[in-house]
Amino acid sequence: MDTGTRTLESALDGRSTVFDSDEAASIAAAHALVQTRIDDACRRSNRKSAEIRVVAVSKGIPAERLRAAVAAGIETFGENRVQEAMDKVGMVHGASWHMIGPLQSNKARRAVETFATIQTVASIDLAIRLNRLAAELRPGNPLPVLLQVNVDADSAKAGFDAAELHGALPALLDLGNLRVDGLMTVGRLTPDPAVARSTFMGLRRLSEDLRAGRSLLGPNLSMGMSDDFEIAIEEGATMVRVGRALFGARPVRAG
Ligand SMILES: *Cc1c(COP(=O)(O)O)cnc(C)c1O
Repeated sequence: MDTGTRTLESALDGRSTVFDSDEAASIAAAHALVQTRIDDACRRSNRKSAEIRVVAVSKGIPAERLRAAVAAGIETFGENRVQEAMDKVGMVHGASWHMIGPLQSNKARRAVETFATIQTVASIDLAIRLNRLAAELRPGNPLPVLLQVNVDADSAKAGFDAAELHGALPALLDLGNLRVDGLMTVGRLTPDPAVARSTFMGLRRLSEDLRAGRSLLGPNLSMGMSDDFEIAIEEGATMVRVGRALFGARPVRAG
């Protein structure tokens, strides 16, 4: 990152500093710890750490702390609400933003304007709408998306179920203004690592099945959060969505 730019911005908002350096040091330490855990999980599973992208889940965390996070080397944030992300994007420069929450169709336009990747494409209708918006708002530059899968067929969760996705995939891959980078899932809330593992294994197997003979579906797997990202990596995650392990407990309302 270019500190010169940051200093100029701070002069423009009339602040003496744009981020708190103690805060940046504490986030850098948490980030290093997460990276060590990633490295260990990669070693155990014979993978390369460079294959794993950390999406720092920043819902509920104020913009000042996110500027410190950028200063600490974090490059990608995940937000679950469009409005909250829009508010922060203007205040936090030098990062890219992923949508990781349920996306309502009336917010799709603003989501396409705000996010680099939408990880939560959970229906054909939403995909069609995003495709149309991407054609209008970013012609010639397909919008990166992930298809959200409800691997466990858990009625509380959004996402395609696996059988449905087999049927829907050809139509999804035909949407020329979307670039389908892979699959995403939200694991079960469970203290049992074996249960978490079965979800992640399920998503990886589904990806292998779907990709057989179809080069247009990308290989990414977004799975794993603070409590289970190592298991997700052992099962093939390429993106882990980590909030509390980087930023500590969230303010209660952030969900
Ligand atoms: C909040 C959230 C996360 C991060 O959870 P932590 O337990 O804080 O790491 C990851 N993915 C999704 C979809 C979330 O909503």
